Amino acid sequence: AKEPIRVLVTGAAGQIAYSLLFSVAKGDVFGPDQPVILHLLDIPPMMGVLEGVVMELMDCAFSLVREIIPTCDEQQAFNDIEAAFLVGAMPRKEGMERKDLLAANVKIFKSQGKALDQFAKKTVKVLVVGNPANTNAFICSKYAPSIPKENFSAMTRLDQNRAQSQIAFRLNVPANNVTNVIIWGNHSSTQFPDASHALVNVNGTIKKVGDCLNDDAYLKGEFITTVQKRGAAVIAARKLSSAMSAAKAACDHMRDWWNGTTEGQFVSMAVYSDGSYNVPADVMYSFPVQIGADRQWKIVQGLEINDFARQKMDLTGQELKQEKEDALSVCQD
Ligand code: NDP
Repeated sequence: AKEPIRVLVTGAAGQIAYSLLFSVAKGDVFGPDQPVILHLLDIPPMMGVLEGVVMELMDCAFSLVREIIPTCDEQQAFNDIEAAFLVGAMPRKEGMERKDLLAANVKIFKSQGKALDQFAKKTVKVLVVGNPANTNAFICSKYAPSIPKENFSAMTRLDQNRAQSQIAFRLNVPANNVTNVIIWGNHSSTQFPDASHALVNVNGTIKKVGDCLNDDAYLKGEFITTVQKRGAAVIAARKLSSAMSAAKAACDHMRDWWNGTTEGQFVSMAVYSDGSYNVPADVMYSFPVQIGADRQWKIVQGLEINDFARQKMDLTGQELKQEKEDALSVCQD
């Protein structure tokens, strides 16, 4: 039998964590034969709520859950962990300036970076969900110099899933039949959902999505804006931000990182940029990646970038550079 692994979820009393913990505990992420010890971090005022989440996890009687550790102490939360879902972040409140939000979150992720550096396994895989996710991941990595930069990522998988699903519905095929949709750049409204390399399996034959849809105006217009504005549309309808779909995406992201991607397919993750495709280096930029059994991601190289894509990729890259500079200036305070 496998030894249990320690998995941290922060913001564990929140909405996304509520769905996420269910899937992790069930074995959807680390495998149906991998026992887990769940480390659940939240802030002191949420400890009562967290107690309720722990009760429900117990009541699910998941056989893979070996121990549950609810805590508001970073040392305990980050100790010996092998995977981390950093979901907890300061939510944007009405009237809050972007700069205030950034400042509050930089503080959280600086502190958690230091805790990772000190207490976590050096092989830990860190997925940042809390917004602004790319920049939070950058700050986290910066304050955890003993852990390879490659072990940090931010989530753009929800955007990818949204994009994939929009196309699948249009083509009337199951969502999984659509592959290789790319999200470039920042998890923000400047992200570039790109279907120009996407493929679709139609009755066993692999075709280009562009050839099947044959609707360039849609792919360069409505498709992109629908994906970019989907989060706001969910909030408007549900009066709460997306949680089930965000949790599913976090699971997809970590599962593919842990187990590797399918041959010939790529997925989007915001990772430490080496300047591939002439986007800014040293920011957490979302790229198409492939992952091997060694849990190392590689940016897919050699994709053709047309002028339309170039402009969109640069725009979101510039935003990330600016966010990083703003975050770094807050760090010095
Ligand atoms: P959610 O669980 O709904 O959201 C948590 C984070 O995920 C937010 O930063 C949010 O960004 C982001 N997010 C939400 N939807 C999406 C999406 N569709 N795609 C990508 N990211 C998304 O928030 P709750 O308020 O329910 O829960 C947050 C919990 O975190 C609370 O329990 C709080 O106490 C805790 N927390 C914990 C901290 C810690 O552990 N140190 C620090 C701060 C808070 P956005 O706001 O932009 O929607």
